Amino acid sequence: MSNDFDAIVIGAGHNGLTAAGYLGKAGLRTLVLERRHVVGGAAVTEEFHPGYRNSIASYVVSLLRPEVIRDLELHQHGYELIHLKGGLEICREDHLYLTGEEANDRAEFGRFSSSDYDAIKRFEAMLEETGTVIRNQWLREPPSLNGGLMDLLGMLKAGRDMHGLSVDLRHRLLQMFTSSAADIIDRWFESPMVRSMYASHCVSGNNASLYHPGSAIPFFHHALGEFDGEKGGWGLSKGGMGQITQAMASFARSKGVEIRTEAVVDKIVVEKGRATGVRLAGGEEISARAILSNADPKRTFLKLVDAEHLPAAFVEDISHLRMGHASLRMNLALNGLPELRDYPGTEMHPQHQSSIVIYPPMDVMEQNYHSAKAGHMPEEPRLDIVIPSTLDDSLAPDGHHVMSILCKYYPFEPADNQQWDDMRDRVADDIVNHLARYMPNIKSLIVGRQVLTPQDLERVFGLTEGDIFHGRHDLDQIFSLRPHPSAAKYRTPLKGLYLCGSGSHPGGAVSGAPGHNGAKRVIRDLRKRR
Ligand SMILES: Cc1cc2nc3c(=O)[nH]c(=O)nc-3n(C[C@H](O)[C@H](O)[C@H](O)COP(=O)(O)OP(=O)(O)OC[C@H]3O[C@@H](n4cnc5c(N)ncnc54)[C@H](O)[C@@H]3O)c2cc1C
Repeated sequence: MSNDFDAIVIGAGHNGLTAAGYLGKAGLRTLVLERRHVVGGAAVTEEFHPGYRNSIASYVVSLLRPEVIRDLELHQHGYELIHLKGGLEICREDHLYLTGEEANDRAEFGRFSSSDYDAIKRFEAMLEETGTVIRNQWLREPPSLNGGLMDLLGMLKAGRDMHGLSVDLRHRLLQMFTSSAADIIDRWFESPMVRSMYASHCVSGNNASLYHPGSAIPFFHHALGEFDGEKGGWGLSKGGMGQITQAMASFARSKGVEIRTEAVVDKIVVEKGRATGVRLAGGEEISARAILSNADPKRTFLKLVDAEHLPAAFVEDISHLRMGHASLRMNLALNGLPELRDYPGTEMHPQHQSSIVIYPPMDVMEQNYHSAKAGHMPEEPRLDIVIPSTLDDSLAPDGHHVMSILCKYYPFEPADNQQWDDMRDRVADDIVNHLARYMPNIKSLIVGRQVLTPQDLERVFGLTEGDIFHGRHDLDQIFSLRPHPSAAKYRTPLKGLYLCGSGSHPGGAVSGAPGHNGAKRVIRDLRKRR
């Protein structure tokens, strides 16, 4: 049978588009099939209320690999960076406004502790140095547990990076992976304000107890990116996150890639033990030499492939992957600028243009995790906020604003058989009431809102169990174990089927790394098969 394409990518999330860009650049005839009406997956800009556009899911950038930006010519295709003006950290009556300038930050932390500023600088330097080892692995295939010479070489490379660290830093690196966030925080910081701030950083990337070994891994997520060359920096994409994926799609098309939206892949077609194509929901079949799935591992292996084509133990393992991020996402359309409790007045302050995080003390965040696990809502949630329209006038009418809020922890399945559809508005009202403690006029400004519960994240974006990362970043679900030892190198147990999404190494966030790595694997394999 002749193949319609060299490669089919299931899903036009940013990783699917990244993979398609590299495949197209390598001269492979590539088709991308996206179930939604728009490309981008969790990196999209949409009009969520008439006249108001926003990044409705992911909203800040840091981990997008510079190599991907360069190779896919994203700036030439419309990706523009916007710098946030520091960070406002609010814990009940206290707040910190951090700009990265020593005089400011030392004075801010000095209000809570005489030693924490210096401890933070030492901690950040440690993260930066140890993090180099991790950063170096991002665009490499992780070594396979059952591999050969190349895998040994891969391990040696990782070992060599580690060897470059001092003994103390090797110790610190291993601690970061094996200790709990609470232990790390306890080891480094003194004041309750700073301890809660760091706990809150972990909560943003985790769905785990702060006392769980491995719960400190998100520290790396926060520290290892870079924005416009600034290590550890976070910022915005002008026009929203959708501008990044539009740029990726534009690059891919310029390399001959075909992208179809509203094209739901129903099944991966298997012939003689090999994935040979896909069948769309309408029945159309399209063949290709390689199939790449940008969908998460559970969706890929438990829904798109019939179980008979995969080893039973593998299917069993995949069905037990831990998913779920317990995040609720809200977008607000505002007819004016919210007033900040800590910076009163109606004029714009730099704090409006910063990343704003509102969190309870560490013990309450821990309690919130356990409550959500039992299906209950938090009384005092952690809110991660940006008001991108204060820096980008393309999103809302003049003088109006849009606000992104990521709220944690919210259960995927509420307790006592309660249904999200019955409680969405009530829970959202509670969140807005909570927010009003810190932004006193917020309620009077809201002209529209979009509330995406964890179940909505699954329904809208296809994220199984609402997992924003396609699977938790737990110790046993990263690197050579992500999502499974037999699928960690982007190849899967089904010949011809590859992974290219966040469920693969190095995991979730808008990085482009799994898409890059998956595509490189396919390009090498197809060249061999020619
Ligand atoms: C609410 C939220 C907030 C976040 N905030 C941030 C942030 O601020 N910064 C950050 O770096 N990261 C953030 N993340 C994480 C990050 O956005 C994701 O990890 C990342 O975008 C996932 O990219 P992906 O390409 O791997 O998968 P996805 O974006 O999930 O793309 C997969 C695509 O496959 C499609 N698909 C699935 N099944 C099929 C099928 N059968 N047929 C056709 N198409 C299919 C889906 O529709 C989707 O478009 C956030 C995520 C969410 C949900």
